[in-house]
Amino acid sequence: MKPPSFEYVVADSIEHALHLLADGGDDAKVIAGGQSLVPLLNFRMARPSLLVDINQVPGLANIKKIDQGIAIGALTRHAKLITSKTITQNLPLLPEAAAWIAHPQIRNRGTIGGSLAHADASAELPVALLALDAHVKVMSLRGKRRIPIKDLLVSHFVSSILPDEIIVEVTVPIPPSGTGAAFDEFSRRHGDYAIGGAAAIVTLDDNNRCVSARITVLGGGSTAIRCQDAESLLLGSTPTTTDIAAAAKTAVTGLEPVSTVHGSSVYRQEVIRTLVERTLTRALLRARPTMESMD
Ligand SMILES: Cc1cc2nc3c(=O)[nH]c(=O)nc-3n(C[C@H](O)[C@H](O)[C@H](O)COP(=O)(O)OP(=O)(O)OC[C@H]3O[C@@H](n4cnc5c(N)ncnc54)[C@H](O)[C@@H]3O)c2cc1C
Repeated sequence: MKPPSFEYVVADSIEHALHLLADGGDDAKVIAGGQSLVPLLNFRMARPSLLVDINQVPGLANIKKIDQGIAIGALTRHAKLITSKTITQNLPLLPEAAAWIAHPQIRNRGTIGGSLAHADASAELPVALLALDAHVKVMSLRGKRRIPIKDLLVSHFVSSILPDEIIVEVTVPIPPSGTGAAFDEFSRRHGDYAIGGAAAIVTLDDNNRCVSARITVLGGGSTAIRCQDAESLLLGSTPTTTDIAAAAKTAVTGLEPVSTVHGSSVYRQEVIRTLVERTLTRALLRARPTMESMD
């Protein structure tokens, strides 16, 4: 199918893009990598009257170290998350998650800002960024605001970005030393949207006691979900395999994955439980590679 007709303007500055969006009202949309929006246009599930292309806006694809962590420009491609030294050295969870996104062609075009604004419940980056306690910086002609990822992701395909706002940056705190992180997912073929997935980040002190844990899951509901009850089971002691299994079981309690042709709700819940167990185990070993055993 062909998309309905629309105006298309390439913005040459962030101010230009913001004016175009403000003048276009609810019918104007940003286009970044186009990897989600173009299919929606072709299926006529989106019918904007104006597309504002932000690909030529200077400075939106920078990755830099800042006081609060790493600032990643909204136009940073998924592929860049995998190759950037600043990202791989400081936030290894991101390349591990990004490598699961679709195929190289899509990773070369799709952007971190687009993935967050699109808010697909099956997307990898929102799950990883929720685990990392990231924030987005958004701009409009009305000013700037900083939104925690937990408040950005509302539901499947629904984010809290307003029609005249543009995500310009994602800021991610660098986890302290003694931290290990892991992301994993399961799909029938590599590159397909996942049946389930999980991210885990744990920090151990010098005595291998868990001082911080964050667990998030993909496919458990209408958006990325943080599993705080499971996290609290790990705090204050050196987690054993029994603790990890208990945390994974708690993580999926109350989750309601949608049944699809790829798996029933119960099956998907079991996939997620297994992946939480796996990512937690890996994260703990990465936190203290010298730790001998978790039994
Ligand atoms: C075949 C195929 C398979 C895919 N598989 C996966 C997968 O396994 N995992 C996965 O996570 N994704 C997958 N994707 C989606 C891909 O990752 C997209 O790149 C991503 O979801 C959206 O990024 P984009 O830059 O392409 O956004 P676009 O398609 O340009 O835009 C998507 C939406 O976000 C808005 N938007 C974009 N940038 C901004 C911004 N800076 N500020 C405000 N709003 C903005 C747009 O207005 C639009 O509503 C797949 C896509 C295809 C075509």
